[in-house]
Amino acid sequence: MPTAEIITIGTELLLGETVDTNTRYIARTLRDAGVDLYRASTVGDNHERIAQIICEGANRAEIIITTGGLGPTVDDPTREAIALALGVETEFRPALWEQIQDRFNRYGLTPPENNKRQAYVPKGALAIENKVGTAPAFVCETDRYVVIALPGVPREMEFLMRRKVIPYLRERFELKDLIKTRLIHTSGVGESAIDARIGDLEEMSNPTVGMAAHAGQVDIRITAKAQSEAEADTLIDEVEAQLHERLGRWIYGADEDTLEGVVLKSMAEKGWRLAAVESNLSGRLLRRLAGGKGEIFAGGEILSPPPSVDDLKQAVKNTCQAHQADVCMGVLLVPGETQQTMHLVIQMLAEEHQTTRTYGGPPQMAPLWTVNLSLDFLRKLITEANLPQ
Ligand code: AMP
Ligand code: MG
Repeated sequence: MPTAEIITIGTELLLGETVDTNTRYIARTLRDAGVDLYRASTVGDNHERIAQIICEGANRAEIIITTGGLGPTVDDPTREAIALALGVETEFRPALWEQIQDRFNRYGLTPPENNKRQAYVPKGALAIENKVGTAPAFVCETDRYVVIALPGVPREMEFLMRRKVIPYLRERFELKDLIKTRLIHTSGVGESAIDARIGDLEEMSNPTVGMAAHAGQVDIRITAKAQSEAEADTLIDEVEAQLHERLGRWIYGADEDTLEGVVLKSMAEKGWRLAAVESNLSGRLLRRLAGGKGEIFAGGEILSPPPSVDDLKQAVKNTCQAHQADVCMGVLLVPGETQQTMHLVIQMLAEEHQTTRTYGGPPQMAPLWTVNLSLDFLRKLITEANLPQ
């Protein structure tokens, strides 16, 4: 099983001007093809530093994928840098130059002379035609590893990765495995409480189980490696069943499921309509509820200035009536010096439920935490008719 490394090239990435989205795309594509990715790094537009990082990567991995630095200008150094790393010269490829000229001609243009640089590749490289842009990509093979140079423009890189690189890797490395991932979403519970119940699963090697904590919710990732989708699904299903058994109602969904989606769906099943009021949340709760499909969310209001808890209760009553809703939730976030306080009022049919929670995490995450937690409370209330204490 070959291992891979990604090197993204571009000074703009190091200056924080461009967000590196290429790594994410390539990482996922490799994962789906069953290739283990061990390292990803970013380097500026500098020949020596790029060559050095390629040499380092070549000591660890069989597949090195670079993006960026294939443009027509002097500061596009990847062709020369890879040649330097491999100890070869670059060579002019008339066929590539023709492809570049053709592409310009199609738009009634003639390529400027500096585009000729893009027709150079390290000696012996396999050129990959780029049908969606002008920068040709290429592969350099040695007996120990391959270096694959892709353009930086995400659309071009993605096209070539999918259409050319993956088929090439499948053949070159006889890839048979595929990797599949399922995300299980939990809310209203901390990472350590989950860890205490599933620690043994986290030590497995196939599937692997890992956690990622977000504000008010924790995702559990199950990743299986197998020779077919069906085999991967079976491996994942077994672990998912274990998670449900151990974590119960903490789990609210999988993959694309969202808290608001789950809430709106269970309201739809009951034939209910929801309204909401919020304060100090910059419209986040209303936006998320309004993003759902259908007529379940009747509407709501943003209360400003922030009301007292009693006024919040009154606003919930009024809004419920105004929108002829069966359920109305009111959420108020009160900032504090060391912690933030969430007040939640839910009127469900004729009954009023209320709870208060505090948050000591980063203040900028408090609104997201508040929205997630309040949706989680509503989710549990709908199914259990009681707020958790
Ligand atoms: P280059 O191939 O280096 O000329 O890059 C062309 C353009 O692609 C840059 O101006 C960036 O906007 C974009 N780009 C380059 N590298 C990345 C990356 N790693 N992630 C996202 N965009 C990128
Ligand atoms: Mg660049």
